[in-house]
Amino acid sequence: MAKTIQIRLAESSCKAGLGYARKHLSAGPPKDAVICCEGMCLKGETARRAANLIAHDLVPGKAVRICHGGLLEETGGMRELVRRAGRVLILDGCGMACGTRLTEGAFPDLEPQVVFANQLYECDQDIFGVDEMPDSQINANAAKVAQQVVEKYF
Ligand code: SF4
Repeated sequence: MAKTIQIRLAESSCKAGLGYARKHLSAGPPKDAVICCEGMCLKGETARRAANLIAHDLVPGKAVRICHGGLLEETGGMRELVRRAGRVLILDGCGMACGTRLTEGAFPDLEPQVVFANQLYECDQDIFGVDEMPDSQINANAAKVAQQVVEKYF
């Protein structure tokens, strides 16, 4: 079994993502880039909601949300937002650090700040599905993560 994988960057880009990136690239000084592992499980979903809260609600003037899929495009603008960022903050849902490993693959020299979101709220670590916890509790956990991250980094 291979221990590494290579990924070809897409020559095309997501039109909506490109528009979003251009808007942020032309809007004032660079913001901190917020990347998330985007996992589909409860831990990844909690991290994803927390990342969105940070960039869209809590400190939108200081942080910009990055689509990690956009890191796999040649010209989609997400890579430019990361290059331009004063700091790159990665919210991984758990210690598997998928978002961090993908980002390191895209930017080997980058030194991101990494947060393991599942260490910032109380949760049964064996629960996997987003359908195994009330939506309101997932939101409350995400808000707890986002608040702690903002207090520490912004
Ligand atoms: S870091 Fe954890 S929660 Fe996120 S995608 Fe990887 S295994 Fe899932």
